[in-house]
Amino acid sequence: MQLNAITKPGFVAASLLAVGFVAASLLAVRFVAASLLAVRRGVPAGKHGGAPSGSAARSPARNGGNLAATILSLLLLTGAVHAANLADFTNVTAGHYQVLAQSGLPMASQVNDFMNEMLRHYSRYFSNWTFKDASRVVVFDNLADFRVYAHSSIGVTHLGLAGYCHLKTDEAGNTFYELVTFEHPRLWQVLAHEGFHQFIGYELGDAVPVWLNEGMAQYFENSTVKAGRLIPGIDPLKLAAAQTLLRSRLLLSVPDLLMLDRGTFYANPTITYPMSWALVHFLMNRDGLNYQSSHFRRYLQDLRWNRDDVDSFRKRFGRESVEWEKEFRSYIAHLRPPPS
Ligand SMILES: [Zn+2]
Repeated sequence: MQLNAITKPGFVAASLLAVGFVAASLLAVRFVAASLLAVRRGVPAGKHGGAPSGSAARSPARNGGNLAATILSLLLLTGAVHAANLADFTNVTAGHYQVLAQSGLPMASQVNDFMNEMLRHYSRYFSNWTFKDASRVVVFDNLADFRVYAHSSIGVTHLGLAGYCHLKTDEAGNTFYELVTFEHPRLWQVLAHEGFHQFIGYELGDAVPVWLNEGMAQYFENSTVKAGRLIPGIDPLKLAAAQTLLRSRLLLSVPDLLMLDRGTFYANPTITYPMSWALVHFLMNRDGLNYQSSHFRRYLQDLRWNRDDVDSFRKRFGRESVEWEKEFRSYIAHLRPPPS
């Protein structure tokens, strides 16, 4: 399989672990929320993207990332950490994926099968979407090597980073999506999550707002397959996180979430991830489960035609209002995970 050259602008989307978030003290959450809201007020209204503002750079999450980056840089400089060589990884190339697995053939084969199957399900779910170009998946067998690679390829060293999807250009000048993660208990959820970023990235590129990209990737990461159809599930921890934010009145308003730039979004994952998942869950289910006839489908079509995402949101889902927010908050407050 040849990795096809594509020409899309830079794109990085990530999966962050929310371990311990539900148990985190409300004080800490309140601090992050206050800093996030302060940052948002300083962001020029209207568009996504761009570098994080100065306030975002001072948030607790960002400081942790900077410290980790500094330590990692020092270790790399002193030779205390060696980057794993991808040429030593087992390569299983089939279907739409080239999979490189550090631990060997069984993992490389399983991941290749899984990624191709998830891509088939995503393509079937969004049935008007077509062939996807080939992508590379890299699976490390340990966290340390994954973090060194993440640092060298995207400069991200967030302690909770579990995987990422980005556009990579190789030595021959080919640009393709590379999905990177490591073996850990949530490996398959992270692969489904990053696979969705790749899927929607090929379709919409930078037209996809960050809340929608992360919200949808989380929406699909706990899916099951019944009678050949993809059924998105509910992660009880994610739901609990959204409901905790809701009860503490720290959930951002929907207009606030729609306006967040990427830097602010990724600097405040304990709020933005549960919030974006909750909003996508609400929007995907309020019309019933038939995606084909939903407003959500029309909204994605608008983005495909590069219409303004905030205007399209209002057109397809209704203008933000007190009633609209109340309906959303009530929906999440009453949502229950399916019995296991
Ligand atoms: Zn993500």
